[in-house]
Amino acid sequence: MFIFKKIADLKQFLHTQNGSIGFVPTMGALHKGHLSLIEKAKQENSLTVCSIFVNPAQFNDKNDFEKYPMTLSSDIDLLSQVGTDLLFLPSIDAIYPNGIDQLDDYDIGFLDTVLDGKFRPGHFKGVCNVIDRLSDAVAPTAMYMGEKDFQQCLVVKRLLELKNSSVKLITCPTRRETNGLAMSSRNELLSKGARERASAIYYCLKSIRDEMDKTPFSDLQDRYIRYLDSNSFETEYLLLADAETLELMTDFNSSKKMVVLTASRLEGVRLIDNLRMN
Ligand code: AMP
Repeated sequence: MFIFKKIADLKQFLHTQNGSIGFVPTMGALHKGHLSLIEKAKQENSLTVCSIFVNPAQFNDKNDFEKYPMTLSSDIDLLSQVGTDLLFLPSIDAIYPNGIDQLDDYDIGFLDTVLDGKFRPGHFKGVCNVIDRLSDAVAPTAMYMGEKDFQQCLVVKRLLELKNSSVKLITCPTRRETNGLAMSSRNELLSKGARERASAIYYCLKSIRDEMDKTPFSDLQDRYIRYLDSNSFETEYLLLADAETLELMTDFNSSKKMVVLTASRLEGVRLIDNLRMN
């Protein structure tokens, strides 16, 4: 596996390559969810590029950025084992030569006002900046992202439209632990016991889906927020939305594609998850 840290070196190398490039941007602390994106990119492209960059611009909480898990040497082993062709490992200066206070603005509209847009002000601006800069460096044919970050996928789709980009966005299913917990680098920050208890999030999402034909959403929302909060979670939101636009919905409407999304803290670690209802 080639490893590049400088954009100029990366571009020069990619220039000599023929065929399609599948790109998987990550923040490292890799797990099987990330590797599933690499595998899909490998199946569909001549060359697979992964980036590891913990993007300071997307953390609205400095403490969250500072304690974000970093496991670079095991990440490199895992990426080599699955046959990644190239790892891009830029420095903060390479991505933000003018500093992280000089960010570009992107009009992602409504998406910036709901769910994580509302609860993490500035987060998606940081995501747009990093994805735009990374994809400018890699110039991929297709970018592979996980549905675990459901809203992020819609934001990046909007970003690519705004840029009139020819990059295809391929969204991939959420990989879960055997207990149902969505795999996430942040799970590393949980104690062993909390990692078991965190499966309650998926239990709630599944229970809502199982009960949607007989119970109004608002009752289920109350019931499962109370359930989570009585199990030491602090729930930021548990909401029903149109899966295509993320417009919030007050009740189930089977003529629409629907998704329930949640953000909840356990031991101070912010966990997000979602489940399509139909
Ligand atoms: P991150 O390193 O958290 O920024 O994630 C990098 C990419 O991996 C994003 O596109 C995520 O949506 C995706 N991803 C993270 N967790 C999972 C998972 N459990 N299953 C599938 N994809 C995931």
